[in-house]
Amino acid sequence: MQNIDNYNFTDKKAIVRVDFNVPLNANFKVTDNTRIVAALPTVKKIASQGVVILMSHLGRPKAKEEKFSLKHIVPELSKLLGKNVQFIDDCIGENVKAKVAALKNGDVLLLENLRYYPEEKKGDKAFAKQLAELADVYVNDAFGTAHRAHASTTIIAQFFPDDKMFGYLIEKELKSLQKVLTEHEKPFTAILGGAKVSSKIIVIEKLLEKVDNLIIAGGMTYTFIKAQGGNIGSSLVEDDYLDMAKELIIKAKTSGINLILPIDSVNADKFAEDANTETTAVNEVKDNWMGLDIGPETVKLFSDIILNSKTVLWNGPAGVFEMDKFAQGTIKIAEALAEATSKGCYTLVGGGDSVAAVKKYHLDDKVSYVSTGGGAMLEFLEGKDLPGIAAMKN
Ligand code: AMP
Repeated sequence: MQNIDNYNFTDKKAIVRVDFNVPLNANFKVTDNTRIVAALPTVKKIASQGVVILMSHLGRPKAKEEKFSLKHIVPELSKLLGKNVQFIDDCIGENVKAKVAALKNGDVLLLENLRYYPEEKKGDKAFAKQLAELADVYVNDAFGTAHRAHASTTIIAQFFPDDKMFGYLIEKELKSLQKVLTEHEKPFTAILGGAKVSSKIIVIEKLLEKVDNLIIAGGMTYTFIKAQGGNIGSSLVEDDYLDMAKELIIKAKTSGINLILPIDSVNADKFAEDANTETTAVNEVKDNWMGLDIGPETVKLFSDIILNSKTVLWNGPAGVFEMDKFAQGTIKIAEALAEATSKGCYTLVGGGDSVAAVKKYHLDDKVSYVSTGGGAMLEFLEGKDLPGIAAMKN
């Protein structure tokens, strides 16, 4: 099968969808270059043979707002690539065509923000065609937007029936997700944290069909605890999901899966860094107090399970880790994952906040794989066909 490794890009122009949606500071300097670094292997490989035309979105521009211009990325990208990256202040049209026509093998050109055109998010076919006309081959390396049927992530692929492929990053993402979902060594443990049950309900259901242990943490905990009759004070709760939570507990039991909930909880008298705190049993949170982190007994319980697993998937923090007072649970889970990894366990971390957490505690290179796609990864775990992935196969 055609792929980025065996395709000959010599004398070809490749249009490459990357995810350069990176954070910038007030001076428009890149403050976290992870996504740019992640795209480098693909850019370098193609530039070693042919022409690279890079396209991306940045932020959510309403019009052609200067602050969302991809020109801000050029210095960082040039530095990381070790060569001057060219830039053009549009992504379609005659000027772009002329610029592209003058490119030579080895040149790298970055186009202006795709989302300056509303057609991008609408998946407009005529817009996709204009992008496609710039190149001989299409490469998609933006996993973070693979769940969107946008012009540059999905629709464009139809104009390259014989010359389209994933970049190294998407290949790696798919391989690691496949390793966890279909080729995992057992015991397989999934840890789902974060704020809401509602956003993870389908993932929980799907994972129950695959895992040996499903650990619930974070704000989701309290909906499950309330569903079992516990006192949760003013903790985060989704009352519409109490029945669903009960059903999931029963489903896990009947299918012999360990659904593990926290046993103790770090509670606060207000949602603030300077709150008073106390640790109680998870089902004994006092009125007007709210659970914002897992307690030490839970940390021990979860760590033991993680250290006895051969495969671990983690999505969503165990508590409000943005505040130091409520970060211990998330730190300890990240540390347990790192230790498990060092003992041969395959560990995959995904989802914006858990990725931010492993980075914050400098443990990102101590786990097996850190996924770059939050929403895309969740949809993949839900079993959905991601449009950007499917478009390559059709
Ligand atoms: P999600 O996007 O669903 O993964 O949720 C991430 C957010 O969940 C983070 O901003 C955390 O602060 C928040 N979170 C984690 N635990 C709790 C909790 N016990 N109560 C309220 N929010 C929480």
